[in-house]
Amino acid sequence: VVSGLVAVLAGVRGGELEVRLGAEAEGRVVRFPGVWLRDNCLCGECADPVAGQKLHGVTDIPLDASVVEAEMVEAEAGGDGVAVTFGPDGHRGLFELGWLARHALDGYEDELDGYGDELNGKELWGASADIGAVPEARWPCYVADPAARIGALRAVLRWGFVVLREVPAVPGRVLEVAESFGFVRETNYGRLFDVRIEPAPGNLAFTSREILPHTDNPYRDPVPTIQLLHCLRVADEGGDTGLVDGFAAAAELQATDPEAFEVLTGTTVRFEYRDKAAVLSASQPLIQLSPRGTVRGIRFNNRSVQPIRLPYERVREFYAAYRTWAELLARPERRLVMRLAPGDCLIFDNTRILHARTAFSVTGSRHLQGCYADLDGLASTLAVLERETR
Ligand SMILES: [Zn+2]
Repeated sequence: VVSGLVAVLAGVRGGELEVRLGAEAEGRVVRFPGVWLRDNCLCGECADPVAGQKLHGVTDIPLDASVVEAEMVEAEAGGDGVAVTFGPDGHRGLFELGWLARHALDGYEDELDGYGDELNGKELWGASADIGAVPEARWPCYVADPAARIGALRAVLRWGFVVLREVPAVPGRVLEVAESFGFVRETNYGRLFDVRIEPAPGNLAFTSREILPHTDNPYRDPVPTIQLLHCLRVADEGGDTGLVDGFAAAAELQATDPEAFEVLTGTTVRFEYRDKAAVLSASQPLIQLSPRGTVRGIRFNNRSVQPIRLPYERVREFYAAYRTWAELLARPERRLVMRLAPGDCLIFDNTRILHARTAFSVTGSRHLQGCYADLDGLASTLAVLERETR
């Protein structure tokens, strides 16, 4: 019985390395194929010691690479390792046992909880009750304290959104918020856009009408993955913001109406936006899946959906599924409603969270400023902050 140790060398069998995991994994033996191990060799010949990037292409690795010999060695730092000699060329590499345990292939699928890596810390919420308090941070704290910044950025990955309070209600400040975790994604709407009543609105956003839950810019590929909305002035009445977790809704659709789920994930829909300066078009399913069959993105905005091109006999079935999905997303109990106050800046994942607003009075001159940024950039900033505070 191996206890206390992450893993020990078990041996070499059939050209593969075998490692026995520690007590936590019940002493399970896991196998590493030669070609896999060789591709992941981090020796000075195989990888750049500083950047850690591989120096070879996949065709440089012999497909019949095998492990011919392996022995435990005490590493100077970072725990014990296994020195491996590869065939057919006699190449030698060193693999840390902890690293091998973390990258085990056998049992990998069992460790995934449905979404696995793809969920990336996401916690789905069906209603406001699932969240408890709205995830928020005060801007002065966020700026001054890395821990507050980590908490706020983590909330965007976990819940899909966060509200920063006390961001000075000054035009343009939303760009500074975006730059605090990444880069502004400029679009045809500019570096930032104003959400307020305009005399000749080219978009429903620039009226006082109600807007149902939707995602932004579905006619772009890639879609802007983060959206920010900064409240400068509120209407006297109405203009409340509503958020819906599209991933949670998709999970419900899959559970309650698997046929509709299959139709929507398997049908490509074309979205388009046109004005004087832009002709933007993108074709994607309303619910986009990963190769593992898990939900990885939602696009929902009927305003820009183009005529569906489907075999005649499949059209009614598509509309039935589309309607079911729309009704599910519009359910009031799915919507988290909040009233942004001047200084509030909402940051949300535009691939997951749908946003809505209620109609509002023309008095009070409601004014929001928004911009777009990138979710992977936010995740990167968070990872760097976490690394620095560890
Ligand atoms: Zn090597």
